[in-house]
Amino acid sequence: REREIVQEALLAAAPQVRARLSSNENPWGPAPTAIKAIADNAPKAFLYAGPVTAELKKTIAGMHGVTPDQVMLGAGSSELLMASLLLAATKGKVMMAETCYISGRDAREDGATMKTEKVPLTKDYQYDLEAMATRVNSETSMIYVCNPNNPTGVMLPSAKLKSFCDSVSPKATVLVDEAYIDYAPNPATDSMVECIRKGQNVLILRTLSKLHGFAGLRIGYALGQPALLKDLRKFCSGGFTVSTTSAAAAVASFKDKAFQDMVLKNTIESKKFLCDSLTSMGYSYLPSSANFVLFPIKMKGPMLLQKMMAEGVSVKSWFFDQQHWCRVSIGTMDEMKAFKDAFAKSVS
Ligand code: PLP
Repeated sequence: REREIVQEALLAAAPQVRARLSSNENPWGPAPTAIKAIADNAPKAFLYAGPVTAELKKTIAGMHGVTPDQVMLGAGSSELLMASLLLAATKGKVMMAETCYISGRDAREDGATMKTEKVPLTKDYQYDLEAMATRVNSETSMIYVCNPNNPTGVMLPSAKLKSFCDSVSPKATVLVDEAYIDYAPNPATDSMVECIRKGQNVLILRTLSKLHGFAGLRIGYALGQPALLKDLRKFCSGGFTVSTTSAAAAVASFKDKAFQDMVLKNTIESKKFLCDSLTSMGYSYLPSSANFVLFPIKMKGPMLLQKMMAEGVSVKSWFFDQQHWCRVSIGTMDEMKAFKDAFAKSVS
C-alpha cells in the first residue's frame, strides 16, 4: 500500500505520465529493509558517514572477494564513470563502441573535448572485441565496455570478454560498466571481477540504481587496483559524496536476497509480456540481458516519443545502423500493459 501511495503521489505530480519506462528504473525497489535502514540511520545523519561507508565498503569487498582498498564508493556510478573518463582523457584516447551508454556524450578535461575512438558493433549488435583489440595502440588510454550494453541490452559471452581483458589490459585500462550485470544469467561469473582479483588493469563500475531500486538514493562503486583508484580521486571525492542513510540502506539491501529474487522474477515476467506483445504486433527485438528491451521501429523515434507521451507513456528512442529504435524499460505488469496499449495506438 505504501508503494501505491508513493506511485499515486508521483502520478499526481505528473498526471500526464502513467508509465515511466525511459530511464531503466526498478519500480519494485527500494527493498522495505532498505527503507527501514534509512529511517533507523536518519537520526545519526548529523555525523559524517565514515563508519557506515566503511561498513558498506567491507560488505562490497566481501561479496566480490576483493580487498576494501580495491573498492571506491560513489553517489551512483555516474560520478565514478565521469571521473574515469576525465582521468583517461588526461592520458590519451578513450575507445568505445559506436553505440553504447556514453557514445553520445563528451567528458571534458581542461575545456578540451575528450578524444574518442568509436568502433562499430558487429552485425548481431555485440561489441566487436576483435576489432577493438586490433585498434588499441599507444595513444589508447582506456577502453569502455558496457556489459550488458545500454541501449542494446546485448551481453558479451564472459569467456570472450575475460580473454579480451587478459590481452588488452596490459596496454590500456579496460573499463567495464556492469550497471546491468545483476540481470545477467550468472552475475557472479559473468562479471569481470575475477580480473580485479588477478590484479589486472581493469576498472569495474557497478550501481545499485537497477536491481536494488536505488536510482534516487545514489549508490555506486568502482572495483579496481588501489593505485588506479587513487588516481581517480583527482576527479571525484572517493566516496565522500555518499550519505549515511543511503550507505546503510545499501548494506541492508545487499543482505536482502529475497527482495533481489522478487525483483528478478517480476522483471522476467514483465519482460516476457513485453517481448510477446512486440511479437504479436509484428515487431522484432534484440535479445536483452538487462531491465530494458530495444527494438527497431517503423517511424522516426522523436515522432514515436511524442505520440507515446500523449498516451502517458515515456520511452527512449535511438537512431543507429540506419534505423530508428525504441528502448522500453521493464516496469510492472500494469506499466507493460500501458505500454502495449499506448504503442498500439501510436503506430496505428
Ligand atoms: N552506466 C550505465 C550503462 C547506465 O545505464 C547508467 C544509468 O542508467 C549508469 C551507468 C549510471 O547509473 P547511476 O549513476 O544511477 O549509478
